[in-house]
Amino acid sequence: MADLDAAFSSSYRQARERFRAAATQAGFTLTEYVNDRATGPEGEVLVTDVAVKGPADADRVVILSSGTHGIEGYCGSGCQVALLSAGEFDVLPSNVRVVLVHALNPYGFAHKRRVNEDNIDLNRNCLDFAAGVPTNTDYEDLHPVLAPEDYGLRPAHWDAQVGEWIKARGFPAFQAAVSSGQYTRPDGLFYGGSAPSWSARTFRQIVREAAGSARDILLMDIHTGLGAFGELEKIGLGNQVAIERARRIWGSDVTNLAGGESNSAPVSGDISVPFFEELPAGAQGTAIALEFGTVDGVAVLKALRLDNWLYTQVDPNAKQDLQKAAEIKATIEAAFHPDDDRWRVRVHELARDAVRQGLSAS
Ligand SMILES: [Zn+2]
Repeated sequence: MADLDAAFSSSYRQARERFRAAATQAGFTLTEYVNDRATGPEGEVLVTDVAVKGPADADRVVILSSGTHGIEGYCGSGCQVALLSAGEFDVLPSNVRVVLVHALNPYGFAHKRRVNEDNIDLNRNCLDFAAGVPTNTDYEDLHPVLAPEDYGLRPAHWDAQVGEWIKARGFPAFQAAVSSGQYTRPDGLFYGGSAPSWSARTFRQIVREAAGSARDILLMDIHTGLGAFGELEKIGLGNQVAIERARRIWGSDVTNLAGGESNSAPVSGDISVPFFEELPAGAQGTAIALEFGTVDGVAVLKALRLDNWLYTQVDPNAKQDLQKAAEIKATIEAAFHPDDDRWRVRVHELARDAVRQGLSAS
Protein backbone atom coordinates (compact mmCIF):
# COMPACT_ATOMS: atom_id res chain seq x y z
CA MET A 1 0.00 0.00 0.00
CA ALA A 2 1.42 3.32 -1.03
CA ASP A 3 1.87 6.00 1.62
CA LEU A 4 -0.59 8.53 0.22
CA ASP A 5 0.23 11.23 2.77
CA ALA A 6 3.77 11.18 1.43
CA ALA A 7 2.52 11.20 -2.19
CA PHE A 8 -0.26 13.82 -2.30
CA SER A 9 1.23 17.27 -1.74
CA SER A 10 -0.15 20.60 -0.56
CA SER A 11 2.11 22.95 -2.53
CA TYR A 12 3.72 22.97 -5.96
CA ARG A 13 7.19 23.14 -4.44
CA GLN A 14 6.55 20.08 -2.29
CA ALA A 15 4.94 18.17 -5.17
CA ARG A 16 7.85 18.91 -7.44
CA GLU A 17 10.46 17.81 -4.90
CA ARG A 18 8.59 14.60 -4.17
CA PHE A 19 8.08 13.79 -7.85
CA ARG A 20 11.73 14.33 -8.69
CA ALA A 21 12.93 12.29 -5.72
CA ALA A 22 10.53 9.40 -6.38
CA ALA A 23 11.34 9.36 -10.11
CA THR A 24 15.09 9.35 -9.50
CA GLN A 25 14.70 6.60 -6.91
CA ALA A 26 12.74 4.51 -9.43
CA GLY A 27 15.44 4.83 -12.08
CA PHE A 28 13.86 7.53 -14.26
CA THR A 29 15.85 10.26 -16.02
CA LEU A 30 14.58 13.82 -15.48
CA THR A 31 14.33 16.76 -17.88
CA GLU A 32 13.17 20.28 -16.94
CA TYR A 33 11.07 22.59 -19.09
CA VAL A 34 11.22 26.03 -17.45
CA ASN A 35 8.30 28.42 -17.85
CA ASP A 36 9.98 31.83 -18.26
CA ARG A 37 6.70 33.73 -18.36
CA ALA A 38 5.67 33.52 -14.71
CA THR A 39 6.76 32.53 -11.21
CA GLY A 40 5.08 30.80 -8.29
CA PRO A 41 3.40 32.55 -5.32
CA GLU A 42 6.71 32.60 -3.42
CA GLY A 43 8.72 33.59 -6.45
CA GLU A 44 9.68 29.99 -7.17
CA VAL A 45 10.65 28.95 -10.68
CA LEU A 46 7.87 27.18 -12.57
CA VAL A 47 8.89 23.98 -14.28
CA THR A 48 7.25 21.10 -16.09
CA ASP A 49 9.33 18.06 -15.11
CA VAL A 50 9.46 15.05 -17.41
CA ALA A 51 10.71 11.67 -16.16
CA VAL A 52 11.60 8.92 -18.64
CA LYS A 53 12.43 5.25 -18.15
CA GLY A 54 12.88 2.51 -20.73
CA PRO A 55 14.77 1.98 -23.99
CA ALA A 56 15.19 4.91 -26.37
CA ASP A 57 14.12 2.68 -29.28
CA ALA A 58 11.04 1.24 -27.54
CA ASP A 59 8.12 0.25 -29.77
CA ARG A 60 5.60 1.44 -27.24
CA VAL A 61 5.51 4.62 -25.18
CA VAL A 62 3.15 5.19 -22.27
CA ILE A 63 2.73 8.83 -21.20
CA LEU A 64 1.08 9.70 -17.87
CA SER A 65 0.58 13.44 -17.39
CA SER A 66 -0.59 15.71 -14.59
CA GLY A 67 -1.51 19.34 -14.13
CA THR A 68 -2.94 20.22 -17.55
CA HIS A 69 -5.48 22.09 -15.46
CA GLY A 70 -3.04 23.44 -12.87
CA ILE A 71 -4.72 22.76 -9.54
CA GLU A 72 -5.99 19.37 -10.75
CA GLY A 73 -2.32 18.40 -10.72
CA TYR A 74 -2.38 17.83 -6.95
CA CYS A 75 -4.32 14.66 -7.71
CA GLY A 76 -2.27 13.76 -10.79
CA SER A 77 1.03 14.38 -9.02
CA GLY A 78 -0.16 12.40 -6.00
CA CYS A 79 -1.00 9.44 -8.24
CA GLN A 80 2.32 9.68 -10.10
CA VAL A 81 4.37 9.80 -6.88
CA ALA A 82 2.33 7.00 -5.27
CA LEU A 83 2.82 4.76 -8.32
CA LEU A 84 6.54 5.49 -8.43
CA SER A 85 6.96 4.84 -4.71
CA ALA A 86 4.95 1.62 -4.83
CA GLY A 87 7.28 0.22 -7.50
CA GLU A 88 4.70 0.15 -10.31
CA PHE A 89 7.39 1.06 -12.86
CA ASP A 90 10.24 -1.01 -11.40
CA VAL A 91 9.89 -3.80 -13.97
CA LEU A 92 8.67 -2.67 -17.39
CA PRO A 93 7.93 -4.78 -20.45
CA SER A 94 11.11 -4.76 -22.57
CA ASN A 95 9.54 -2.86 -25.48
CA VAL A 96 7.99 -0.07 -23.37
CA ARG A 97 9.20 3.39 -22.38
CA VAL A 98 7.30 5.27 -19.67
CA VAL A 99 7.13 9.07 -19.73
CA LEU A 100 5.75 10.91 -16.70
CA VAL A 101 4.86 14.57 -17.32
CA HIS A 102 4.58 16.50 -14.04
CA ALA A 103 2.75 19.86 -13.88
CA LEU A 104 2.12 20.63 -17.52
CA ASN A 105 0.61 23.94 -16.39
CA PRO A 106 2.95 24.76 -13.49
CA TYR A 107 1.53 28.28 -13.00
CA GLY A 108 -1.96 26.92 -12.31
CA PHE A 109 -0.50 24.17 -10.13
CA ALA A 110 1.54 26.60 -8.03
CA HIS A 111 -1.16 29.28 -7.76
CA LYS A 112 -3.93 26.70 -7.29
CA ARG A 113 -5.82 27.77 -10.38
CA ARG A 114 -7.26 25.68 -13.21
CA VAL A 115 -5.95 28.11 -15.84
CA ASN A 116 -2.47 29.27 -16.83
CA GLU A 117 -0.61 32.57 -16.40
CA ASP A 118 -2.85 34.21 -19.03
CA ASN A 119 -6.16 32.93 -17.67
CA ILE A 120 -6.12 30.32 -20.45
CA ASP A 121 -7.66 26.86 -20.20
CA LEU A 122 -4.97 24.65 -21.73
CA ASN A 123 -7.57 22.12 -22.91
CA ARG A 124 -9.18 24.81 -25.07
CA ASN A 125 -5.89 26.31 -26.25
CA CYS A 126 -4.42 23.53 -28.40
CA LEU A 127 -5.77 24.42 -31.81
CA ASP A 128 -4.60 26.01 -35.04
CA PHE A 129 -5.38 29.67 -34.45
CA ALA A 130 -4.50 30.56 -38.05
CA ALA A 131 -7.39 28.34 -39.17
CA GLY A 132 -9.85 30.34 -37.06
CA VAL A 133 -11.39 29.64 -33.65
CA PRO A 134 -14.89 28.36 -32.84
CA THR A 135 -17.55 30.96 -32.11
CA ASN A 136 -19.57 30.66 -28.92
CA THR A 137 -22.38 33.21 -28.99
CA ASP A 138 -24.13 31.59 -26.00
CA TYR A 139 -21.03 32.31 -23.90
CA GLU A 140 -21.15 35.94 -25.05
CA ASP A 141 -24.73 36.04 -23.86
CA LEU A 142 -23.81 34.54 -20.47
CA HIS A 143 -20.52 36.33 -19.81
CA PRO A 144 -22.03 39.44 -18.15
CA VAL A 145 -23.76 37.31 -15.50
CA LEU A 146 -21.11 34.60 -15.21
CA ALA A 147 -18.13 36.87 -14.71
CA PRO A 148 -19.36 40.33 -13.63
CA GLU A 149 -16.95 42.83 -12.04
CA ASP A 150 -18.59 42.45 -8.64
CA TYR A 151 -19.17 38.69 -8.63
CA GLY A 152 -17.21 38.05 -5.42
CA LEU A 153 -19.08 40.82 -3.62
CA ARG A 154 -22.60 39.58 -4.34
CA PRO A 155 -22.43 36.06 -5.78
CA ALA A 156 -26.01 35.17 -4.77
CA HIS A 157 -27.39 37.92 -7.01
CA TRP A 158 -25.49 36.67 -10.04
CA ASP A 159 -26.13 33.00 -9.28
CA ALA A 160 -29.85 33.77 -9.43
CA GLN A 161 -29.36 35.37 -12.86
CA VAL A 162 -27.53 32.29 -14.06
CA GLY A 163 -30.37 30.17 -12.67
CA GLU A 164 -32.79 32.13 -14.86
CA TRP A 165 -30.67 31.40 -17.93
CA ILE A 166 -30.62 27.67 -17.12
CA LYS A 167 -34.37 27.66 -16.56
CA ALA A 168 -34.93 29.27 -19.94
CA ARG A 169 -32.44 27.23 -21.98
CA GLY A 170 -31.82 23.99 -20.07
CA PHE A 171 -28.72 22.64 -18.35
CA PRO A 172 -27.05 20.93 -21.35
CA ALA A 173 -27.14 24.20 -23.30
CA PHE A 174 -25.73 25.99 -20.26
CA GLN A 175 -22.89 23.51 -19.82
CA ALA A 176 -22.00 23.70 -23.50
CA ALA A 177 -22.11 27.50 -23.47
CA VAL A 178 -19.91 27.82 -20.40
CA SER A 179 -17.40 25.01 -20.72
CA SER A 180 -16.96 24.16 -24.41
CA GLY A 181 -14.51 27.05 -24.67
CA GLN A 182 -14.59 30.70 -25.74
CA TYR A 183 -12.06 32.88 -27.51
CA THR A 184 -13.45 36.39 -27.00
CA ARG A 185 -13.21 37.14 -23.27
CA PRO A 186 -9.70 36.90 -21.76
CA ASP A 187 -11.21 37.75 -18.36
CA GLY A 188 -13.86 35.06 -18.67
CA LEU A 189 -14.21 31.36 -17.97
CA PHE A 190 -12.85 28.51 -20.13
CA TYR A 191 -10.93 31.03 -22.24
CA GLY A 192 -8.93 29.36 -25.02
CA GLY A 193 -6.50 32.22 -25.70
CA SER A 194 -5.41 33.78 -28.99
CA ALA A 195 -2.20 31.81 -29.60
CA PRO A 196 -0.62 28.57 -28.35
CA SER A 197 0.43 29.02 -24.71
CA TRP A 198 3.82 28.08 -23.25
CA SER A 199 2.29 24.86 -21.91
CA ALA A 200 0.74 23.99 -25.29
CA ARG A 201 4.05 24.51 -27.10
CA THR A 202 5.94 22.65 -24.41
CA PHE A 203 3.56 19.70 -24.55
CA ARG A 204 4.04 19.48 -28.32
CA GLN A 205 7.80 19.31 -27.78
CA ILE A 206 7.46 16.73 -25.00
CA VAL A 207 5.32 14.45 -27.19
CA ARG A 208 7.74 14.75 -30.11
CA GLU A 209 10.70 13.86 -27.89
CA ALA A 210 8.81 11.16 -25.99
CA ALA A 211 7.43 9.40 -29.06
CA GLY A 212 10.84 9.00 -30.73
CA SER A 213 10.46 6.22 -33.27
CA ALA A 214 7.75 4.32 -31.37
CA ARG A 215 4.87 2.72 -33.29
CA ASP A 216 2.32 2.81 -30.50
CA ILE A 217 1.95 5.74 -28.10
CA LEU A 218 -0.52 6.01 -25.22
CA LEU A 219 -1.49 9.15 -23.35
CA MET A 220 -3.26 9.19 -19.99
CA ASP A 221 -3.93 12.71 -18.69
CA ILE A 222 -5.20 13.00 -15.10
CA HIS A 223 -8.01 15.46 -14.28
CA THR A 224 -10.45 16.19 -11.46
CA GLY A 225 -13.69 18.11 -10.99
CA LEU A 226 -16.27 16.31 -13.15
CA GLY A 227 -18.47 13.45 -12.00
CA ALA A 228 -19.47 11.85 -8.70
CA PHE A 229 -17.13 11.97 -5.68
CA GLY A 230 -14.22 9.57 -6.12
CA GLU A 231 -15.54 8.07 -9.35
CA LEU A 232 -13.53 7.76 -12.54
CA GLU A 233 -14.67 8.61 -16.03
CA LYS A 234 -12.28 7.45 -18.73
CA ILE A 235 -12.81 10.03 -21.45
CA GLY A 236 -11.65 8.86 -24.85
CA LEU A 237 -10.01 11.49 -27.06
CA GLY A 238 -9.44 11.70 -30.78
CA ASN A 239 -11.26 10.10 -33.70
CA GLN A 240 -13.49 7.04 -33.66
CA VAL A 241 -10.63 4.67 -34.45
CA ALA A 242 -8.66 6.00 -31.48
CA ILE A 243 -11.73 5.71 -29.24
CA GLU A 244 -12.21 2.06 -30.23
CA ARG A 245 -8.55 1.40 -29.45
CA ALA A 246 -8.99 3.08 -26.05
CA ARG A 247 -11.98 0.82 -25.34
CA ARG A 248 -9.91 -2.26 -26.10
CA ILE A 249 -7.26 -1.12 -23.61
CA TRP A 250 -9.31 0.45 -20.82
CA GLY A 251 -12.75 -1.10 -21.26
CA SER A 252 -16.04 -0.55 -23.04
CA ASP A 253 -16.97 2.17 -20.55
CA VAL A 254 -14.49 4.60 -22.15
CA THR A 255 -16.65 7.55 -23.21
CA ASN A 256 -16.24 9.65 -26.32
CA LEU A 257 -15.60 13.33 -25.59
CA ALA A 258 -16.87 14.36 -29.01
CA GLY A 259 -19.89 12.07 -28.84
CA GLY A 260 -21.94 13.84 -26.19
CA GLU A 261 -21.77 10.91 -23.75
CA SER A 262 -19.22 12.37 -21.35
CA ASN A 263 -19.72 14.36 -18.15
CA SER A 264 -17.73 16.98 -20.05
CA ALA A 265 -19.19 19.11 -22.83
CA PRO A 266 -17.48 18.54 -26.21
CA VAL A 267 -14.50 20.91 -26.34
CA SER A 268 -12.15 22.19 -29.01
CA GLY A 269 -8.40 22.42 -28.63
CA ASP A 270 -7.64 19.88 -25.92
CA ILE A 271 -4.11 18.51 -25.55
CA SER A 272 -4.89 15.40 -27.57
CA VAL A 273 -4.75 17.63 -30.67
CA PRO A 274 -0.96 18.19 -30.49
CA PHE A 275 -0.56 14.65 -29.15
CA PHE A 276 -2.00 13.11 -32.31
CA GLU A 277 -0.31 15.69 -34.58
CA GLU A 278 3.17 15.08 -33.18
CA LEU A 279 3.18 11.28 -33.48
CA PRO A 280 5.73 9.79 -35.89
CA ALA A 281 4.36 9.02 -39.34
CA GLY A 282 2.53 5.71 -39.34
CA ALA A 283 2.44 5.40 -35.54
CA GLN A 284 -0.84 4.87 -33.75
CA GLY A 285 -1.87 6.99 -30.79
CA THR A 286 -4.44 6.37 -28.09
CA ALA A 287 -5.43 9.03 -25.57
CA ILE A 288 -7.73 9.25 -22.59
CA ALA A 289 -8.39 11.71 -19.82
CA LEU A 290 -8.75 10.08 -16.40
CA GLU A 291 -11.40 12.34 -14.88
CA PHE A 292 -12.03 11.96 -11.15
CA GLY A 293 -15.22 13.35 -9.64
CA THR A 294 -15.12 15.67 -6.63
CA VAL A 295 -18.02 17.88 -5.59
CA ASP A 296 -21.16 18.65 -7.60
CA GLY A 297 -20.96 20.65 -10.81
CA VAL A 298 -22.69 23.74 -9.45
CA ALA A 299 -20.15 24.00 -6.61
CA VAL A 300 -17.25 23.48 -9.04
CA LEU A 301 -18.52 26.23 -11.33
CA LYS A 302 -19.03 28.59 -8.39
CA ALA A 303 -15.44 27.97 -7.27
CA LEU A 304 -14.20 28.72 -10.79
CA ARG A 305 -16.24 31.93 -11.00
CA LEU A 306 -14.94 33.14 -7.62
CA ASP A 307 -11.37 32.31 -8.58
CA ASN A 308 -11.76 34.03 -11.94
CA TRP A 309 -13.10 37.11 -10.19
CA LEU A 310 -10.22 37.11 -7.71
CA TYR A 311 -7.58 37.18 -10.44
CA THR A 312 -9.27 39.31 -13.09
CA GLN A 313 -11.14 41.89 -10.97
CA VAL A 314 -9.14 42.25 -7.74
CA ASP A 315 -5.58 41.65 -6.63
CA PRO A 316 -5.35 38.33 -4.79
CA ASN A 317 -2.23 39.58 -3.01
CA ALA A 318 -3.62 42.93 -1.88
CA LYS A 319 -3.94 43.21 1.89
CA GLN A 320 -7.61 44.14 2.02
CA ASP A 321 -8.47 41.11 -0.12
CA LEU A 322 -6.41 38.53 1.74
CA GLN A 323 -9.25 37.13 3.82
CA LYS A 324 -11.49 36.87 0.79
CA ALA A 325 -8.66 35.35 -1.26
CA ALA A 326 -8.04 32.68 1.39
CA GLU A 327 -11.74 31.77 1.43
CA ILE A 328 -11.80 31.49 -2.35
CA LYS A 329 -8.67 29.36 -2.44
CA ALA A 330 -10.22 26.99 0.11
CA THR A 331 -13.31 26.74 -2.10
CA ILE A 332 -11.38 25.93 -5.24
CA GLU A 333 -9.18 23.41 -3.43
CA ALA A 334 -12.28 21.58 -2.20
CA ALA A 335 -13.54 21.50 -5.78
CA PHE A 336 -10.37 20.04 -7.33
CA HIS A 337 -8.43 18.16 -4.68
CA PRO A 338 -10.60 17.27 -1.72
CA ASP A 339 -8.76 16.80 1.58
CA ASP A 340 -10.26 13.37 2.07
CA ASP A 341 -8.33 10.15 2.67
CA ARG A 342 -10.96 7.84 1.21
CA TRP A 343 -11.03 9.93 -1.97
CA ARG A 344 -7.26 9.71 -2.30
CA VAL A 345 -7.22 5.95 -1.75
CA ARG A 346 -9.94 5.49 -4.36
CA VAL A 347 -8.45 7.72 -7.06
CA HIS A 348 -4.99 6.29 -6.55
CA GLU A 349 -6.30 2.73 -7.00
CA LEU A 350 -8.29 3.65 -10.10
CA ALA A 351 -5.29 5.46 -11.62
CA ARG A 352 -3.05 2.50 -10.83
CA ASP A 353 -5.45 0.10 -12.56
CA ALA A 354 -5.60 2.32 -15.66
CA VAL A 355 -1.81 2.56 -15.77
CA ARG A 356 -1.47 -1.24 -15.47
CA GLN A 357 -3.93 -1.66 -18.35
CA GLY A 358 -1.92 0.82 -20.42
CA LEU A 359 1.39 -0.88 -19.66
CA SER A 360 0.14 -4.38 -20.46
CA ALA A 361 -1.79 -3.50 -23.64
CA SER A 362 -0.26 -5.00 -26.74
ZN1 LIG B 1 -9.37 19.09 -16.07
